[in-house]
Amino acid sequence: MTVTKKAKPSIGFIGAGNMGLPMIKNLMKKGFQVKVYDLNPKITKKLEKDNIKAVNNLRAVASNQFIISILPDTQNVESVFNNDTGINSYLKPGTIVIDMSTISSSSAIDIGKSLQKKQIEFLDAPVSGGVKGALNANLSIMIGGKKDTYKKSLNVLNSFGENIIYAGRLGMGQVFKMCNQIMVGSHIQAMCEAFALCKSKGGDLKLLKETLLSGAANSWILENLGNEVINKNENAGFRIDLQLKDLKLASEAAFESGVPLPGLSLVLALYLEARAHNEGKNGNQSLFKTYDRMSNQK
Ligand code: NAD
Repeated sequence: MTVTKKAKPSIGFIGAGNMGLPMIKNLMKKGFQVKVYDLNPKITKKLEKDNIKAVNNLRAVASNQFIISILPDTQNVESVFNNDTGINSYLKPGTIVIDMSTISSSSAIDIGKSLQKKQIEFLDAPVSGGVKGALNANLSIMIGGKKDTYKKSLNVLNSFGENIIYAGRLGMGQVFKMCNQIMVGSHIQAMCEAFALCKSKGGDLKLLKETLLSGAANSWILENLGNEVINKNENAGFRIDLQLKDLKLASEAAFESGVPLPGLSLVLALYLEARAHNEGKNGNQSLFKTYDRMSNQK
């Protein structure tokens, strides 16, 4: 008996930036046919050099079975999935759209509902794990939308994700991501604060880090960014301006719900201080510079 292999669905991918490009490459490694659209012509040229099929308009990616987007912010996603000027009018019923950008939860709900009216399925599916996770195909993905759509998408998402969590109804992926970012920001702030005190007393920061790693104060942030702070490495994994964007989204969502989150407001203010010193392109661990300024330490 011959077993015929089911053809893999075709993918239209929108946004080939720091996150998108490695995700595209991982999809291709798994044998998916991918067609890519990016607004920036310089990126399109680079894609062609890498033998990635690039097109120069949204309509040209619309006929694929899956559409995946990973774009900077809410307004970029709203412009792509606009009923009048975006891709929506070219999408066929039955297409599955997965937006993996970190954007406002209410905007994800609006986009999803408007696509569902045209029998197009939609998931909000922001990611955690950064560029490293995108390169290593082990991103965490938090998904909102219909469970059935989530199940149908797993085969595609497995190409670049490892922990693929169904968070709940439309918009809930974005809510989970905001919660993630509240904790990331707060953990960085807590680490910088502990290091600032230790430094002011002439303590050994390396020894402090090793000590904290083995106790209740341990965290992913301490493990992965502790040395960056000790070595004053400002280089970006995840940029301060992206961290700020995510904290702003969480603040807006908290305001909508009427939930006071005073810790979030404090961390947001500290990151604004960093950006005001032109540090938006630095890695988010470089919040230590804000603490150095506040305590007049070097
Ligand atoms: P990026 O700026 O590197 O890439 C975004 C790409 O989208 C760019 O190439 C840009 O030209 C393209 N683009 C913008 N508007 C477009 C449009 N209308 N149509 C087509 N292409 C368009 O950003 P990134 O770092 O890849 O981040 C993308 C998303 O992933 C953001 O929402 C970010 O918050 C989230 N994210 C990023 C990281 C990270 O470490 N960089 C980690 C987790 C989540």
